[in-house]
Amino acid sequence: MNLTVGVLALQGDVREHVAALTSAGVRAVPVRRVSELDGVDGLVLPGGESTTIDKLLRAFELFEPVRARLRAGMPAYGSCAGMILLADRVLDAIDGQQTLGGVDITVRRNAFGRQIDSFETDLVVDGLPEDERGPVHAVFIRAPWVEEVGPAATVLARVENGAAAGRIVAVRQGSVLVTSFHPEVTGDDRVHRLFVGMVRGSR
Ligand code: GLN
Repeated sequence: MNLTVGVLALQGDVREHVAALTSAGVRAVPVRRVSELDGVDGLVLPGGESTTIDKLLRAFELFEPVRARLRAGMPAYGSCAGMILLADRVLDAIDGQQTLGGVDITVRRNAFGRQIDSFETDLVVDGLPEDERGPVHAVFIRAPWVEEVGPAATVLARVENGAAAGRIVAVRQGSVLVTSFHPEVTGDDRVHRLFVGMVRGSR
């Protein structure tokens, strides 16, 4: 069964997600218009700037179509800005910022603080495909964290060490996955393989 997974290509690190999805064994295509959205079995919302992607979603008349597909059960994976876009609630949003929603979480934008805008750490992500590589090397770039998780959502990973220890950074709800970090920049395709498995399972 040949799966096609789209990467929302309005802003952000689209190429990196296309490469990670290709490595995870699916056809990966950029999505900029509704006709392209119609052809995908699942959608990745990349890292970038959530306020910009939100504005562009509306400018490209994709906001409602993507939301409708999410409500109809389309699997989705959001990293960083993509996590914000898939969250039901956002703290420290800019005026007028909207989200597509879909995951019953409250995220805080730029939560790790100005001093430690960007950092890297190893963490365990529940539900990853089995292999011998051990913890995931997680890269955080002006990342959000998850401040509240509703009953429908499941925590998959928390920061293990340092000042932010215990903070929730990966969540799954049904066929929607979100991470605060950017697995697409590390060459480790296990998170994308987890998502591809979710897309496969939803068909
Ligand atoms: N701080 C960005 C936002 O609010 C997210 C950063 C990222 O995706 N690397 O959208």
